[in-house]
Amino acid sequence: MKLLEDRIRKEGVVKPGNVLKVDGFLNHQMDVGLFNEMGKEFKRLFADCPVNKILTIEASGIGIACIVAQHFNVPVVFAKKTQSINIDGDVYTCKIESYTHKRTYDVIVSKKYINKDDHILIIDDFLANGCAVNGLIELIQSAGATVEGVGIAVEKGQQPGGKLLRNQGIRVESLAIIDSMDDQTGEIIFR
Ligand code: 5GP
Repeated sequence: MKLLEDRIRKEGVVKPGNVLKVDGFLNHQMDVGLFNEMGKEFKRLFADCPVNKILTIEASGIGIACIVAQHFNVPVVFAKKTQSINIDGDVYTCKIESYTHKRTYDVIVSKKYINKDDHILIIDDFLANGCAVNGLIELIQSAGATVEGVGIAVEKGQQPGGKLLRNQGIRVESLAIIDSMDDQTGEIIFR
């Protein structure tokens, strides 16, 4: 999606450790007009899928997911990161290692909000190694629901997450795919 690529080129900052900072429009301040264009594009890409719910993970996926959901006219559920070891039986759980924070979270979704009849589109801001998306898929599978696909704003194609998911037969649509980025020169090359 050219609009998103242009914005990343203009405002993205490449940090050591293969991290792209896009705080000016996505991860801290949010450009809702841009999110709306992204929502339109996801709706076009997944037009043939019977999506009845969107699933994301807190915190940075929530803003995008909400705007995308308006285009599908469906609710958004966000998986919650929890410190609690006393997880009761009312939730589905998985473990997700955070790429940016380098720690592992227990992640939960209430059984009230996902069930076997759901056809779910996963939305997230970034795809790197795929831990977050794989965790969300595990939650959906625990509920016996269907994964319709995965919509990602920025895929870092130099990391294995996208390839691993597509190799499992999961439909992944990313609006911008980065092939390489250099924290010395700041250069970002898109696929
Ligand atoms: P993964 O689980 O695929 O390894 O990483 C994806 C998650 O880590 C996303 O939910 C996102 O919040 C965060 N993340 C991974 N790489 C980046 C990055 O380069 N920049 C930002 N801002 N977040 C990232």
